[in-house]
Amino acid sequence: MRITVDTDRCVGHGLCEATSPEVFEVNDDGYVDIDGAAADTAGESVLREAAAHCPSAALTLEP
Ligand code: SF4
Repeated sequence: MRITVDTDRCVGHGLCEATSPEVFEVNDDGYVDIDGAAADTAGESVLREAAAHCPSAALTLEP
């Protein structure tokens, strides 16, 4: 499962980073970077939880 961020929607709340800091990191530009390799190993439930907690609905899961 792949997860992507819409940088136009992401406002850097960091709730995804709090959920899974090995996958998500808010960068200096104020939006989140995703570690693709960490996302691959994190598991679907972790990615779904992060996406569900994003207040801006900026995270999208793809099969
Ligand atoms: S929770 Fe959503 S808006 Fe906040 S940093 Fe993560 S992706 Fe961006």
